[in-house]
Amino acid sequence: MNHHYDTRLLQAGKPDFFQGTAPVNVPVVRTSTVRYQSTQVQRELHERRDNGEEVASYGRHGTDTHRALEQAFNTLEGGHRTFLTPSGLSAIATTLLALLSPGEHALVADSVYSPLRRIEARLLERLNITLTYFSPARDDISTLARPNTRLLYLESPSSLLFEVLDLPALAAAGRALGLTVVADNTWGAGYLYHPLQLGAHVSVHAATKYIGGHSDLMMGAIVVADASRAESLALAYDTLGLAVSADDAYLALRGLRSLPVRLAQHGRNALAVARHLQAHAEVAKVFHPALPEDPGHALWRRDFSGANGLLSIEFSRFGAAAADAFINALTLFGIGASWGGYESLVLAAAPGRLAEHSYWQGTRPVVRLHIGLEDPDDLIADLDQALAAASRQEIDSWSQR
Ligand SMILES: *Cc1c(COP(=O)(O)O)cnc(C)c1O
Repeated sequence: MNHHYDTRLLQAGKPDFFQGTAPVNVPVVRTSTVRYQSTQVQRELHERRDNGEEVASYGRHGTDTHRALEQAFNTLEGGHRTFLTPSGLSAIATTLLALLSPGEHALVADSVYSPLRRIEARLLERLNITLTYFSPARDDISTLARPNTRLLYLESPSSLLFEVLDLPALAAAGRALGLTVVADNTWGAGYLYHPLQLGAHVSVHAATKYIGGHSDLMMGAIVVADASRAESLALAYDTLGLAVSADDAYLALRGLRSLPVRLAQHGRNALAVARHLQAHAEVAKVFHPALPEDPGHALWRRDFSGANGLLSIEFSRFGAAAADAFINALTLFGIGASWGGYESLVLAAAPGRLAEHSYWQGTRPVVRLHIGLEDPDDLIADLDQALAAASRQEIDSWSQR
């Protein structure tokens, strides 16, 4: 029977019966060494592994706990194979190292998660791999592609400002040029957005965010749509010696089970907060694709099944000091990077990072909010009092000039 998506997600990676019984959740199988009953069993298993089967022959290759999470990722994204990495950043770095060779070139949307640029400066440049950043809205990638271009890297919606890309059109253009299309799917958490169904070959994740969902683990995932790219990735992944702990794999799988309900609540809360902030005099603009006024709203409606808890605001009058005062006056929002846990967070967007992104047209400070699972009325009251406090400070600083 072909079950609905949510049902398949809850079934994925469920342990088989053993001697008539089974636990609900996959056990945490921690080991470095895998012991074999005999040399014959060892030989048979190694043969199966050499034929491409994912059998555990050493702790680094993962155990049943890892296999269960990988299966869940394949179900989530409609992928062929998943590689678990120690962080989202390592998923990105591994993908670029696996799919690009010295002398090759990649086109990268200028909206991407900013630390990708460090991978370029510290690793790829040394290997004579070059990147060109382009404006997803304005540039025609076919005019930017070179004879040595191999890869197109996208992220939708973008980090910080949530620019929604026309991924199907970009992926089709990339495929027409013979490029491997990679999409960072952290915002959609695999659930709200399906880049592999929209034309991407590879989807990378920070499972640290919504999939973990409780701010207690670091993990990345690379989900690959087809066997040939899975082979390239398997070689790099295996050689780099990447491994994640069985405890973290267990926690990520546990997080995944409640992903649909958490995302629905994050999305509802964020939209309520976004609508309230839109009407506030100190807020010039709210960036959140579920708002009808957001420039990416039509594409978001077409390609996504929902929104998450992220939104950014650009102030109308505040300078950097008032933006700081606003952040410090909040009581229900932790000041910190990352997002995707159950709790609300606030972070000032670094002006340098906004400047990298052609979508950014503003001049005032931008603050990113992660709207958690708290009651949105409490979050709105907290935001209002913090805006009022910062507003008073802004007026004082004017009167002292
Ligand atoms: C957080 C994040 C990453 C990096 O993930 P880590 O697990 O923190 O290394 C990558 N891409 C996006 C879009 C992110 O938000």
